[in-house]
Amino acid sequence: MNGGFELTEENIERWLRCEDASVLEKLWNEADRVRRENVGDEIHLRGLVEFSNHCERSCLYCGIRRENSKLERYIMPIEEILACARDALSFGYRTVVLQAGESPARIEEEYVSEVVRRIKDEVDVAVTLSLGERTPEELESWRKAGADRYLLRIETSDLELFSRIHPGRDRRLRTRLLDVLRELGYEVGTGIMIGIPGQSYRSIAHDILFFRKKDVDMIGVGPFIAHPDTPLGREEVVKRFLLDEGEQVPPTEEMTYKVLALCRIACPEANIPSTTALATLNLARGRELGLQRGANVVMPNLTPTSYRKLYEIYPSKACIRESAGEYSVCIRDRIRSIGRPMGTDHGDRRRRRKSGPGRTEDETS
Ligand code: SAH
Repeated sequence: MNGGFELTEENIERWLRCEDASVLEKLWNEADRVRRENVGDEIHLRGLVEFSNHCERSCLYCGIRRENSKLERYIMPIEEILACARDALSFGYRTVVLQAGESPARIEEEYVSEVVRRIKDEVDVAVTLSLGERTPEELESWRKAGADRYLLRIETSDLELFSRIHPGRDRRLRTRLLDVLRELGYEVGTGIMIGIPGQSYRSIAHDILFFRKKDVDMIGVGPFIAHPDTPLGREEVVKRFLLDEGEQVPPTEEMTYKVLALCRIACPEANIPSTTALATLNLARGRELGLQRGANVVMPNLTPTSYRKLYEIYPSKACIRESAGEYSVCIRDRIRSIGRPMGTDHGDRRRRRKSGPGRTEDETS
């Protein structure tokens, strides 16, 4: 037997419910071992550019939802985005993640194509897009323009909960889009929030098994953080969502590490970030602990500080005031403190050759 690391639904749920520190130590060690053996010690840095907060969606948890009229809306001019990409390279980040709200009207297909083309022509970085549910045609244009990867979290695999927190949306569209992305040749990333009101242990077990089934290339998991200017930031709404104690997953730091570690064991070769949301819960050690419990990626923020406060998807995001340069120094120090090297290439998913029973080396080449 392998100490419960065979990831059945029951075992996953058992780990998620485990609160014994000495038993959890085994989970952290196993995740760290699997990470080292499959993706090595290098930590890849992905510079995040939150280039627009325009959004037409009403996601119940998100601070930039369309109903939040307190926010001034922006879209960064192309030259400013390019300047961020050049900054990224100068800080040694080999990937730029372009993230924004979901707004086909304000964040036009052609504009994004132009941004991607210019970055790929002028700066030697990989480009990841994270622009929500866009059409297969748009995804294809961006791939042709040179985009390498796409992040689209499923947020939860629970169909009913998904529709409740994303009014008018169906989670199955996201599954379809993940398949489209794969067919278009993108590296495909997804993920969930942990501790959404209404989210059960069983549903997180399903999420993790979903990641494994889809053999996703990147997995982002972070705690749900209530934003006061959203429905899920209001107690009377949350009360209607919460499950009974014992069923409801708490949005805690420890729960996030458990999910992160289990994701690593489920998808050994995936790139998994230690997220900003985690650093927000524990500014002193959150990022480092994530990296020691399965993660191998960090996403420092490159968004110019003047825009950053307008992109508060959740409140008190870690490092919201640091400039991109200060952020870069801080991240390097933190990575050095845990004795891991920084990746120097684009940090693509490395697909390992499988040479187990029934497969020969030649079959995969
Ligand atoms: N519009 C894009 C990008 C969304 S922001 C999209 O829909 O894909 C990226 C991620 O931030 C989301 O996928 C969500 O998981 C996370 N997020 C949003 N609001 C949050 C909150 N209140 N707490 C924690 N994470 C949140």
